Formats: sequence, C-alpha cells, structure tokens
Amino acid sequence: MSADQGTTTEAGFGLEPTSDVREMRDWVHEFARDVVRPAAAEWDEREETPWPIIEQAAKIGLYSLDFFAQQSLDPTGLGLVVAFEELFWGDAGIGLSLVGTGLAAASLAGSGTPEQVGEWLPQMFGTPGDVKLAAFCSSEPDAGSDVGAIRTRAVYHEATDEWVLNGTKTWATNGGIADVHIVVASVDPALGSRGQATFIVPPGTAGLSQGQKFRKLGIRASHTAEVVLDDVRVPGRCLVGGKDRLDARLARLASGHSGGEQAAMKTFESTRPAVAAMAVGVARAALEYAADYAATRTQFGRPIGQNQGVAFMLADMQAAVDAARLLTWRAAWMARTGRPFEHAEGSVAKLFAGEMAVKVTEQAIQILGGNGYTRDYPVERWHRDAKIFTIFEGTSEIQRLLIGRAVTGLDVR
Ligand SMILES: Cc1cc2nc3c(=O)[nH]c(=O)nc-3n(C[C@H](O)[C@H](O)[C@H](O)COP(=O)(O)OP(=O)(O)OC[C@H]3O[C@@H](n4cnc5c(N)ncnc54)[C@H](O)[C@@H]3O)c2cc1C
Repeated sequence: MSADQGTTTEAGFGLEPTSDVREMRDWVHEFARDVVRPAAAEWDEREETPWPIIEQAAKIGLYSLDFFAQQSLDPTGLGLVVAFEELFWGDAGIGLSLVGTGLAAASLAGSGTPEQVGEWLPQMFGTPGDVKLAAFCSSEPDAGSDVGAIRTRAVYHEATDEWVLNGTKTWATNGGIADVHIVVASVDPALGSRGQATFIVPPGTAGLSQGQKFRKLGIRASHTAEVVLDDVRVPGRCLVGGKDRLDARLARLASGHSGGEQAAMKTFESTRPAVAAMAVGVARAALEYAADYAATRTQFGRPIGQNQGVAFMLADMQAAVDAARLLTWRAAWMARTGRPFEHAEGSVAKLFAGEMAVKVTEQAIQILGGNGYTRDYPVERWHRDAKIFTIFEGTSEIQRLLIGRAVTGLDVR
C-alpha cells in the first residue's frame, strides 16, 4: 500500500488512533462521564430536550460547528466515530440531542454550494450564548424505508424566484424546535427518488410548524416530532446545490441517462458509520457496567462472574463490541479516504453494531438479574435506547437488502 492511500504507519497498517484523536477522545469522555451520564436518568424521565447540557457543551466548544467540521475532516476518518462512541457511552438520548444537528449539517455540507454551507451551517449551531439546533426531514407517514414514496411537493415560482413546499414530515429529530430545517421534497413525482431535491427552510419561515411530538421507548431526551409544511415559501437560493445543478440532473434523466441516484446512495452509506459508533458506545457502557457488577455481586459464596455461565456471556459481549468497533472504524476510514463501499461496508457496520447493541444490553440486564430490570440501574435504559439503532438511518432489513444486493449483484427486493 502506498502512503497516498491514507495508511497511518510505515508498515502500511495501524489501528492506533492519532494523538489528536486520542486527545479529543479523552476530552469528550470527560464530558460524557462528568456531565452527560449523571444527567441521563433525569432527562430520560422528563422526555425533554436537555437544553442546559447542550449549552454546557457549546460553552466548551463540543457543541459547535468547529468541532464537527474538525472531526469530519480528521484524515483517518476516526474523529467523528470516536467522539460519537464516547458521547453515547454517556447517554444516547442526550448524545442524539448533541449530534442531531451534526447529521443535518452533514447532509448540507455533502451537497450544498460553498455559499450555502457558509451561510447556513453557522446558523444551525448558533453561538455558546444562544444555541440553535437543526433538523433533517426526509421520512413521511407513507415514506419510511421507501424514500421514493415521498409526497411532500416543492413547486418553483419563477416570477418570485421562490419554492413553495407542502407536505407532512414525520420522525424528525429536532423537528419543530430546530432553527434550520433541511427538507427533502419531490420536484417531479413521476421520477420517484430521482425527482427529489433538498431544501433549506430558514429560521422563522411562515407555514412550518411542529405536529405531534412522539413519546418513545428510548432515547427519550431526544426530541422527535412531525413537521407540517403548509405553503412554506423559501427563496430560490435555498435549493440545496442550486437550480442549475437540479436542472442539469433532470435534463440528464429526461434524455435517459443516470441522474446520479447512485451518488446519493453513497452519501447515505458514508454517514452510517456514525450511527454504528453510537451503538458501540451504548453497548460498551452496558458491557463495562455488567463486568463490574459480575465482579462484586456474590451468590453461592463467590462473585457471579466466577461462573462460566456469566463470564462467557461477558466474553461474548466483549468480542461483539470489539468486532462492531472494528467494522465501524473500517467503514469510517474507507469513507474518509474515498474508498468505494463495494460490499456495502457502511451498511455492514450499521447492521452489525445496531443488532449487537440490542443483544449486549439485553445480556447486561440478565447479568444484573432483578436489579437489571429496575430503573434504579441504568442497563434497562441502555436496552431501551439500543433498539433505535436497528430502526433509524435505515432499518436492519434495509441494510440487509443493500448488503444482499452488493454481495449478489442482483436486484434483491
Ligand atoms: C427516534 C427516531 C428518530 C428518527 N429521526 C429521523 C430524522 O431525523 N429524519 C428522518 O427523516 N427520519 C427519521 N427517523 C425515521 C426513520 O429513519 C424511519 O423510522 C425508518 O427509516 C423506518 O421507516 P418506517 O418507520 O416508516 O418503517 P417502515 O418502512 O414502514 O418499515 C416497517 C418494517 O418493514 C420492514 N421493511 C420495509 N420495507 C422492507 C423491504 N423492502 N424488505 C424487508 N423489510 C422491509 C422494515 O425493515 C421494518 O421492519 C427517525 C425515526 C425514529 C424512530
């Protein structure tokens, strides 16, 4: 392997994060340990956005555009996934409140023009004295896994150079409480997902309102709601990527050429390692807690961890967490160094880590016995939280579909 392929050591292979990443990891871990975790049970019960914690994170620069930009640009690709593992080790609900904006920002950074990125990304985060959130709104009541079924319409009015958006979005993280909403809408319904475009809805735009807020099984500190778009008018410059690019794409499609759908799919693939890292963080929390418990809880005159039945469970949990992290790091490194996901490596990481987190947190409850089933111990919350990783950013079934297609080369349905 040559040096320009992004290898980290002379020998051509290494798994040790750089000193920059290690330093950042320790700093995020400190915040997760001292601020996030002690507040986790309270915000889970309150089912509200933990604004004071977001403000605290903003004050130290952890909730900031700078932090997200710097970690996304880490040349090894590990910056964001290492940060997310630590934050979600602290708590998944608060963690998602802190990184939900980053996911919306990533979608704009991925396909916006330099002017759009410069204008809107800072507004998504606000300032330490006046923090703001952003939301990414793609899912709809009848368009979840099937993103091609999106019904929200965007119609261009040439006379005023405005787009008018109408429709209902659902499941939007930070939906309605965000300042900037990024909305996926159809500009040409006949073209399905290829006829879609993404729009920036600026703060305070008339016609955008929050619908119902969902009461969830887990990640309850993270706000999830419907977003209603009723004649929402946004200026032409709010079409992500610009009108020339959209017109060129639609013209290519009209002449029977590919409209670049594959490129959009690759963008989705590259954000999945971040979600896998969240799952690894929750599972690691449960593993560590269960291992400590097994070493101190005594039954039959010895620590329960001295029984193979318990120790082997912990061994399986350790192997699963390690495997998920390695898949996550591989996918993050591949995405950052421009390697194509020929075998859907992003989906592989997300699928494995999501299902692993559900299993490992369930095993942790088992190791804690009756205590594990109560809200006096955090493992039941971690189990409730872990389930989301098999659902959002593409369900496990959709990941299997994508991996199945990559493996077989067939149009698996
Ligand atoms: C807490 C939370 C936060 C979210 N945040 C956001 C957000 O910020 N922005 C956003 O746009 N969306 C968000 N989502 C939406 C999320 O991405 C969707 O819930 C997810 O894509 C699944 O869609 P669905 O719920 O409509 O399920 P459906 O698509 O109806 O799926 C139901 C079941 O059918 C299965 N299924 C569907 N199609 C197939 C198939 N072809 N083959 C096999 N099985 C299939 C699914 O795997 C699943 O098990 C969030 C969801 C939740 C719960």
